[in-house]
Amino acid sequence: MRILQVIKLKEKGFFGRELMHNVVVVTDEDGTTMVDTSLPENFDLLVRRLKEINLSLEDVSKIILTHSHPDHIGNAEEIRRTSHAKIYAHKEENFVPHDFNLSYEEVNKEMPVSREEFYHTLSRINQIKLEVPRIDVKLRGGEEISGFKVLHTPGHTPGHIALFDGENLVTGDAVRADGGLLPPLSFFNWNNEMALKSFSFLTSLPYKRVIPYHG
Ligand SMILES: [Zn+2]
Ligand SMILES: [Zn+2]
Repeated sequence: MRILQVIKLKEKGFFGRELMHNVVVVTDEDGTTMVDTSLPENFDLLVRRLKEINLSLEDVSKIILTHSHPDHIGNAEEIRRTSHAKIYAHKEENFVPHDFNLSYEEVNKEMPVSREEFYHTLSRINQIKLEVPRIDVKLRGGEEISGFKVLHTPGHTPGHIALFDGENLVTGDAVRADGGLLPPLSFFNWNNEMALKSFSFLTSLPYKRVIPYHG
């Protein structure tokens, strides 16, 4: 039997808001797969939430990273230390420390925020201390992992991936939920035109449930 569960975590102080982090956990006869891992500050809570669904870090045999942003990769190496999980990501995704260079005007246009909150958030996200994970399995798109098909959905980042099992569509940051389904915030996108294309592609799939990472 294959069971998909969503662990809901939060990131506080995201341009004056609270941002949900939806970590997907799939358990089947081959083990447990985690999709994205949230931030180091959420590590203890993530372990507690796993326990609540009768899982432990040791159970995690695969970690799939939708892309390389800190809020997705933050606990990958720490989880690996306990579980010896293999880490999967797209071959075109660049796993290096990120330094976000955003302008107040650009952000405020899409997400109204005070200057104070803006600079506070920017310095916070640029100071997040985390280990950049080493990728064990580099994907191209089209692979099957833990009942999911891997979909290459570039735009937010070059090697962004989404996962689809015929019912559940795990979108990472290629789709976000804020009232309805929306494309990713353009100021965080590597290529906005491609991000919009990937958004249209994903939302046209015959899913039953969409699970964006944020929302
Ligand atoms: Zn992202
Ligand atoms: Zn994100």
